Amino acid sequence: MYDIIIIGAGPAGLTAALYARRANKKVLVLEAKAYGGQIINTLEIENYPGIPKISGFDFATNLYQQVKDLEAEIKFETVLRIEEDKKVVTNKGEYTAKAIIIATGAENRKLNLEKEEEFVGKGVSYCATCDGNFYKKKVVAVNGGGNTALEDALYLANLAETVYLIHRRDTFRGEDRYLEEIKNKNNIKLILNSTIQQLNGDEHLESIDVSDMNGNVQTIKVDGLFIAIGQTPKNEIFKNLIDIDDKGYIISIDDVHTNHKGIYVAGDTRVKDLRQLTTAVSDGSIAATTAIKEMEV
Ligand code: NAP
Repeated sequence: MYDIIIIGAGPAGLTAALYARRANKKVLVLEAKAYGGQIINTLEIENYPGIPKISGFDFATNLYQQVKDLEAEIKFETVLRIEEDKKVVTNKGEYTAKAIIIATGAENRKLNLEKEEEFVGKGVSYCATCDGNFYKKKVVAVNGGGNTALEDALYLANLAETVYLIHRRDTFRGEDRYLEEIKNKNNIKLILNSTIQQLNGDEHLESIDVSDMNGNVQTIKVDGLFIAIGQTPKNEIFKNLIDIDDKGYIISIDDVHTNHKGIYVAGDTRVKDLRQLTTAVSDGSIAATTAIKEMEV
């Protein structure tokens, strides 16, 4: 029997573990893949108060180590469901706790094109910092208009020969300072008001068909396509107990409560206005302290 089971080892989940261990609670963190969540793929973090610049990898690794040093138990297992009485069932076992914190973050949104899945690792990627090195002096495209797409385009421009930045509108969600940098890079070519219609190639991606708003389609030869069109949460498995909205985010009450007593939510996976590292760690600390306070009533 644990005091708190935390599902997800991203910044929200690890921060919850940090606070719970510092309160001397028995903590289990369950993570399906690797620690760090989305932040581990962020090239450079420059908006975390007190740390002017740090790579996402270093931030995540430092946080993971900090939590390990506090002797939180961390198991790499896939959670299948939560049952009544706060029982968490994974692919390897069953665990119960006085409180559960869901901090499962979100996963990369897909274009849902034919061959998209088949070409992952064969020209299609969702992580420029992970796969950019494979495209040195090659031609790549980035799809999206948020900070991730802009950062990816800038990162890839230092490696690849040409980077096409394809966005479905003519204004960007991403910050102006990235756009300024992009304008100063002569190997980034903007293709605006356009969407990718088709991925072409046999064994490996060879080209993409891009359509403008008038339906004019051009085929662009590319070696790689980096899809950076945002994230979606993965909360289907909690639907039996937890209220989620029509986009799949957990509906949170007073920040970190769910509709189910003793089950809390933290980070990008809940309904919120601002999904940032700062707000994820904020949620993690609030979820852990709230859970501790309420289990002791
Ligand atoms: P995002 O801000 O949600 O942007 C997603 C982009 O993809 C939008 O431009 C959207 O277009 C486009 N898009 C969505 N679905 C699409 C589709 N089916 N086809 C084509 N385009 C599609 O996602 P993000 O860039 O991954 O950023 C997520 C969060 O992390 C944001 O809050 C961001 O600020 C933050 N972040 C911060 C940093 C940093 O501070 N250094 C770095 C990375 C990310 P529309 O604009 O037309 O909707």
